[in-house]
Amino acid sequence: MKNIILTGDRPTGKLHLGHYVGSLKQRVELQNKGDFDEMYVMIADAQALTDNADNPEKIRENIIEVALDYLSVGLDPNKITLFIQSAVPELTEFTFYYMNLVTLSRLERNPTVKSEIKQRGYETSLPMGFLTYPVSQTSDITAFKANIVPVGDDQLPMLEQAREIVRSFNNIYGEVLVEPKAMLSDNEVCKRLPGTDGKAKMSKSIGNCIYLSDSEEVVKQKVMNMYTDPTHLKVEDPGHTENNPVFIYLEALCTDNHFVKYLPEYKNLEELKAHYEKGGLGDMKVKRFLNDVLNDVLNPIRQRRKEYEGKIEEVYKILENGSKKARKKASETLKEAKEAMKINYFEDEALINSHIKKYQK
Ligand code: ATP
Ligand code: MG
Repeated sequence: MKNIILTGDRPTGKLHLGHYVGSLKQRVELQNKGDFDEMYVMIADAQALTDNADNPEKIRENIIEVALDYLSVGLDPNKITLFIQSAVPELTEFTFYYMNLVTLSRLERNPTVKSEIKQRGYETSLPMGFLTYPVSQTSDITAFKANIVPVGDDQLPMLEQAREIVRSFNNIYGEVLVEPKAMLSDNEVCKRLPGTDGKAKMSKSIGNCIYLSDSEEVVKQKVMNMYTDPTHLKVEDPGHTENNPVFIYLEALCTDNHFVKYLPEYKNLEELKAHYEKGGLGDMKVKRFLNDVLNDVLNPIRQRRKEYEGKIEEVYKILENGSKKARKKASETLKEAKEAMKINYFEDEALINSHIKKYQK
């Protein structure tokens, strides 16, 4: 079987550290390893409109932001296909057919969608498109016959839903679609990076993010204001590293080399944690170290972003060419699916001939 990778992000804001550790980093590693046949990365504008229908300007402005973030983390349009969801209308057609293979109650049970409905206050005014976005996500994945989907763990229910629809489609119409698998980070804390406020998930829609494009000054300010351990009042108090986003970010990003460079009195994160837990280590010192680590990670990203900011036309061209390529692939799969569903009337000579025979007397 071919290895086909597909992932994407909603253009609801700039990309943040959660995206980086949860998915972008693996995408770049996969891309550079070259151990795949096709790789697609999608800017999910149609999905973003499901909860931003009244704010198209926001989506429009953020397409370029997400594209710049992609290119600045090292995604390479010469190796992979970057595209915009709405520029591949075949995806919408797939969604219409997949809707018949899923029940309303099944959609209402999706735990990620459930918590997002609550977060958006949609309990009494839920847009249908929002409830069905996992179906549209199934289209995005299956139209490319993707088998590998690098994501954060909030996407596991979406992948489960996609597999159910694929099984159901293949059972009824024949083996056309491929069952996808999520690819999660090996590092537990990267699967769902918390926000700077200590809340469960760093998320564009909550506004508790450190963005990949934040300047050194902004990052410093955000780090210094980060939530830590509320029981760690004085330096000598014993502290908690669990549920402490400062330590979680270090867990996600720092290496022993960062200690050699910025904090040589400790060998590694284990030693730093032990000192904090025992007492005698102040939050400011840990935050200053985190700030150094973040700048180490973000500086090359900032630099590449600056280069691409100087060639916006080229970035749009990359998206346009990628979208054409993606559309070609999606329409091939759609053709196969429609054949299997027996809705390819004009291409089915046998059907036409059988009807000629039926009425020829
Ligand atoms: P929104 O709030 O608009 O839904 P988001 O911040 O959740 O935005 P998405 O575009 O929905 O971002 O997610 C894109 C990808 O990034 C998904 O694979 C998702 O699992 C992953 N991701 C998002 N936030 C995090 C996070 N905090 N930790 C790990 N992965 C994340
Ligand atoms: Mg999300």
